[in-house]
Amino acid sequence: MVDLISHALWAFAFFHNLSNAWLYVLFTLLPDLLWGVPSFAFLISTGRLGELRKARWRRSQNKDGVKDFRSDLGGKLYHLSHSWIAMGFVGALLFIFIPSIALPFIGGVFLHLAFDLFLHKDSVFGQMPLYPLSSFRVEGFIHWSDRRLIILNYALLTLAYFIIIAGRL
Ligand SMILES: [Zn+2]
Repeated sequence: MVDLISHALWAFAFFHNLSNAWLYVLFTLLPDLLWGVPSFAFLISTGRLGELRKARWRRSQNKDGVKDFRSDLGGKLYHLSHSWIAMGFVGALLFIFIPSIALPFIGGVFLHLAFDLFLHKDSVFGQMPLYPLSSFRVEGFIHWSDRRLIILNYALLTLAYFIIIAGRL
């Protein structure tokens, strides 16, 4: 996860010239929805929603080693939905069976995965792009919730949308 709004804004910035840009935006949200929605539903149905308040996104903040909902169900779903192998496989299936949405899927999902790969240093899950074949982890450069990255991210987004809007005037 980088924040979902940023994922959507970057996808639209990258693909805005395409007539089906909104499909790319929709698919770029998919990796986080695939683990987030079931995890959220699981917490609600088991009355454990309060755990969200204790949840930490960075390993170093999780000093007491709290085992929260993400260690079991959420963790597996997270690694599957953030696996370059698993999502590449789904993309290949789409090319065969529903080719009209294959490119938006590949473009949207892999833009998300590319951001996440580098922006999850010290994250609780970690990035395992070869899951489930290998649990090899990519450490990344910085965590998405780092204040410096948030400022840089929104500065770059502002610049990108300034260029897009200026180009249309
Ligand atoms: Zn993500």
